[in-house]
This record gives sequence, C-alpha cells and structure tokens, in this order.
Amino acid sequence: FNNELQRSEKMEIISELAASVAHEVRNPLQVTRGFMQLLSQSAKPDEKEYFALALKEMDRASGIITDFLTFAKPQVEQIVPLNVYEELKHVTGILLPLANLAGGTIELEEAEDLYITGNSSKLKQAMINIVKNGIEALDGEGTVRIWAYAQSNEVIIHIQDNGVGMDPLELTRLGEPYFSNKSKGTGLGLMVTFRIIKSMNGSIHFNSRKGAGTEAIIRFPACAPDQGSST
Ligand code: ADP
Ligand code: MG
Repeated sequence: FNNELQRSEKMEIISELAASVAHEVRNPLQVTRGFMQLLSQSAKPDEKEYFALALKEMDRASGIITDFLTFAKPQVEQIVPLNVYEELKHVTGILLPLANLAGGTIELEEAEDLYITGNSSKLKQAMINIVKNGIEALDGEGTVRIWAYAQSNEVIIHIQDNGVGMDPLELTRLGEPYFSNKSKGTGLGLMVTFRIIKSMNGSIHFNSRKGAGTEAIIRFPACAPDQGSST
C-alpha cells in the first residue's frame, strides 16, 4: 500500500513537472523559430538547407509537446465526472481553425447527459490526437464527424473522417511509438491516446479503408454526473 502511494505521488510530481516544462519551452521555441525563419530569408543558398533542417527539427519539438501536453496544467490531476459532449465541444472549437485551414470542417453532433470519469486535460489530449489525424488525412477537403451516445453502461464516441484512409498493415501499426507516414509527424500522437484511454478503463477500435476514410470508436464506462469525484 505504501509503495503504491509513493508511486502515485511520484507520478503526480512527474506530470506536474512535465506540464511546467511544456509551458516554459513552447514560447521560446516559437520565438526562436520566428527569428530563424527571418534569418533564412537572407541566407546564402548553401546555408538555407541548414535553416530548413533546423526549422524542421523545431517543428518536431513543438509537435511532441502538442501530442503529449496540449492541455497539461502544472497542478494536481483531478479525476471528476466529465460531460463528454462539453469536452468534445472544446476539442472541436480548438481544432476547427486547423480543419478550415486544411480546407475541411468538423461536425459535432449534439448530445446530452453523457458522463464518464476521468481527467479533463487527459481526455481532451486523447481526443485531440485522433481528431487532428482526421484533419490531416482530409487532404484538401472533407469532414471529420464526431458523435457520442450511451449504450448499456458505456459511453461510445465515434470520430470519423473521409480522408486518405489506411491499409490493413498501417492499421495494425497504429499506436506504435514513432510510426508515422507524415513528413512533420511525431508518430507519438496515438501512442499517447492509447495510453490515456487505457488508464481510463476505456478501449479504442479503428475501421479504415484506403481512399475512403477512417473511423475511431472509443468506449468508456459510463458514470452518473454526481459520481466518481475524488475531491
Ligand atoms: P503522426 O500523426 O505524428 O504521424 P500518430 O500516432 O498520430 O502520429 O499517427 C500515426 C500514423 O497513423 C499517421 O502517420 C498515419 O499514417 C496513420 N493515421 C492515423 N490516423 C489516421 C487517419 N484518420 N487517417 C489516415 N491515417 C491515419
Ligand atoms: Mg497525429
């Protein structure tokens, strides 16, 4: 019992630390990126190559922060009842500009009274990594559709895109660290998502067809709105 307690305290400290570092590192990274871009404009042709490499590596660094710590806050993690629709609305709001930029859109179906227990930042991180993949798969135009409902004692979330899709081999590799088909990918997004869903006693399943699109189906144990608060 004591060991368990020590372990969870250590985990708590580590995640608080990670969140602080993410906050502090993101800004200087963006500022430096801006200056490097400026400098690269007046660089000699053979120097431009190095600037391009450096910029790519900086994007990779911010990509890793995004995959792991978009919503992380340097404070004790709260496990509370979460309104699934409200959480999805927040995620949609954040990613809609990105979807529009890619020529696509996100459609979230309204839903009431869907509650699960967990940490809001973690759930949003897990969802954002899936929805972001959907957007990146759209390739010019398309829609990411999100809907959720209750079934038996579960809350089920569907995230579907009509993007490039995946073949069976790609599907089996999802969640594997550093598996990425993107030039700017980290290959860490789904690994993070899978871990978070598992820690919430949930499950995730993907259906996909090359050229047609992809659907993620996520299941969580349902809870009553006044249930499961740890405080
Ligand atoms: P990253 O997005 O950084 O590449 P992820 O772990 O988020 O890493 O995804 C791993 C890979 O899985 C992606 O590079 C892509 O090939 C594939 N993938 C994930 N989601 C989708 C999707 N919705 N449509 C098509 N391919 C996808
Ligand atoms: Mg991703």
